[in-house]
Amino acid sequence: MTRSRIAGFYNLTLDERRAQLADAADLPLSDLLPFNSLLPTDIASHMVENVVGTFSLPLGIALNFQVNGRDVLVPMVIEEPSVVAGASFMAKLVRAGGGFTATSTDPLMIGQLQVLDVENAEKAAEQILANKAELMAHVDAAESSLKSRGGGARELEVRIIAESPIGKFLVVHLVYDVRDAMGANAVNTACERLAPKVEAIAGGRVHLRILSNLTDKRMAKATCRIPVKELAFGRGDPTGRPYTGEEVRDGIIEAWAFAAADPYRAATHNKGIMNGVDPVVIATGNDWRAVEAGAHAYAARTGKYTSLSTWSKDDEGNLVGELEMPMAVGIVGGATKVHPAAQAALKLMGVTTANELAEIIVSVGLAQNMAALRALATEGIQRGHMSLHARQVAIAAGASGELIEKVASQMVAEKMIRMERAEEILKESQG
Ligand code: NAD
Repeated sequence: MTRSRIAGFYNLTLDERRAQLADAADLPLSDLLPFNSLLPTDIASHMVENVVGTFSLPLGIALNFQVNGRDVLVPMVIEEPSVVAGASFMAKLVRAGGGFTATSTDPLMIGQLQVLDVENAEKAAEQILANKAELMAHVDAAESSLKSRGGGARELEVRIIAESPIGKFLVVHLVYDVRDAMGANAVNTACERLAPKVEAIAGGRVHLRILSNLTDKRMAKATCRIPVKELAFGRGDPTGRPYTGEEVRDGIIEAWAFAAADPYRAATHNKGIMNGVDPVVIATGNDWRAVEAGAHAYAARTGKYTSLSTWSKDDEGNLVGELEMPMAVGIVGGATKVHPAAQAALKLMGVTTANELAEIIVSVGLAQNMAALRALATEGIQRGHMSLHARQVAIAAGASGELIEKVASQMVAEKMIRMERAEEILKESQG
């Protein structure tokens, strides 16, 4: 049984953290070895083209997460400071209210066929719908291991695009259950198989045959409820009075309202959500461009770009957060199967279905959203960011080992976090 609370984790050495992590996850340390080794170039060179090397990023563990009553240790691959700490801290507050509750739809992807040159779009649409069962059976008749695992065609829809730069045309949507795969290749293959049949039935010419990344039939949703007293905290400036829970809660709701109403704010608000989402998507070898594309297209679904999350209070005054978004991620196929660290990440989280992974990812997105809103609604984002930012500046200035912390904390104390100052302090420290 995994424990996601590990006291003082940030104070440990890297080796101690790995040992504690394996213990908390109830896994042999060897299962986590891929986290501290580079992706072998012979694997890399089979993944993409023209490989000359690999590029690594930090992998941190978000602690304290409890999703649907289960403790989860969450691997996050990210270059930005404060994200892992922010997610872990918010997960701790959410835990006090029972953790995250998450749900997801069936893993239904949409494949699109663009049908051009039909004489009468309405008539062609009717013909396709009249032959729906036959068309879906044709897709499913193909040899596919996905079918034997319970996936396959689920629905066929037709849309008429009345106006476009090339005039009116028809679009067929194949709704396809991809089970535990992200499904892009599976859907594209199914679309290619379907195309000649659609042409035969509707006339015209099938042009594009490709999945849509607006996977609004493959959604995941997380909710959390934080007892208002958990939100109270003291100011960084000890002379100021502490923030009350009510103040923090109402500040978060006001901050969310800004994103709900204004696309300029919503873009940054949703970026904060993706700060939680993408690192887990990347750690598990999934396609984060696909998830990003789906998230933003969904955020603009009404014609006006808006917040992906909502924040409110319940009758007892608790803060309630909800995040619902498309989540096309898999645990088989793509890079998830070939990247050893992605395999280790899935093992660490103990996920056995793509749905479970999606549910964890939206929970982390919601936690990260709350971390940003809480900071913005109270002390401002820079306070928390500064010490970590200072460390990065110190490293960039050439500090290593203990000097990183020394140079960084002096810059924070002086409220001057600049490369030139880091270089000066470094020079002074080195005598
Ligand atoms: P994939 O092609 O490896 O297909 C997954 C396969 O795994 C299935 O066809 C099935 O045979 C097998 N499988 C084994 N166990 C399964 C299970 N329990 N559930 C489902 N399938 C199981 O991978 P994919 O997920 O179809 O494609 C993902 C890749 O496609 C990603 O790397 C993505 O980057 C890429 N891609 C994305 C886009 C896009 O998003 N627009 C377009 C093209 C390709």
